[in-house]
Amino acid sequence: MRVALVADVHGNLQALSVVLERLEVEGVDRLVCLGDVVGYGGDPEACLALLRERADLCVRGNHDAAAVDPRIRRGFNVVARAAIEEHAAWLEADALAFLAGLPQVDGLAEDGGLFLTHGTPGERRRFTYLVTALQAGDALDAFDERFGAVGHTHVPAVFEADAGPAGARERNVVTDGPAARDGERILEVGPGRRAILNPGSVGQPRDGDPRAACMVLDTAAGRAALLRLAYDVAGAQAAIRRRGLPEVLAARLAFGR
Ligand code: ZN
Repeated sequence: MRVALVADVHGNLQALSVVLERLEVEGVDRLVCLGDVVGYGGDPEACLALLRERADLCVRGNHDAAAVDPRIRRGFNVVARAAIEEHAAWLEADALAFLAGLPQVDGLAEDGGLFLTHGTPGERRRFTYLVTALQAGDALDAFDERFGAVGHTHVPAVFEADAGPAGARERNVVTDGPAARDGERILEVGPGRRAILNPGSVGQPRDGDPRAACMVLDTAAGRAALLRLAYDVAGAQAAIRRRGLPEVLAARLAFGR
């Protein structure tokens, strides 16, 4: 089964459109959304409408939660809070109800299974950045499926489990594996091994590469492809400015930070 992993769209319609177009060409069996459809960007309503139509599954991100629960916004920095307050005001009641109903975790059963959550597997109602191999080792013990997928950091990563029960090592998704095509990196997960994948961010990459990021995971073959796709950054910046969101949210898109 070929599964598209899409995370942290953050209201960036220009980036999401390019990603969905490419996934159409790739011909995936499922599209899963790893949370944070809203927050930061200029088109949260359109992004949410598109993903409600196209995604088979979607889990709750911290910005999705903050759109419907003002208490969560208190933990946000001033720029993130300003944006999510605007988004909450723009979204229709039906869209807000959809966000309120998103699950913390979800999954697919085929080919050994795929576990989905926004932050870190095993946590309850919190959103922790999964960034170290040590964390990944514990996280891999928190679910039984062969694969896990997360978002939240806006940085692509693959954590592959070594033979030991709690051992995990980080694979560098930027340099590991051959470049099959422009903007694509392939990672093989060995037979009998497990992995947690972070596809990076569609709408606000933070790894210094401004291109939209997503992954296509072939669960049967144990192969993950990281795609980096150029999109209309200027259009996304214009949308942020047109709607009066903080300027820094537009500026950072040019740098992928
Ligand atoms: Zn995010």
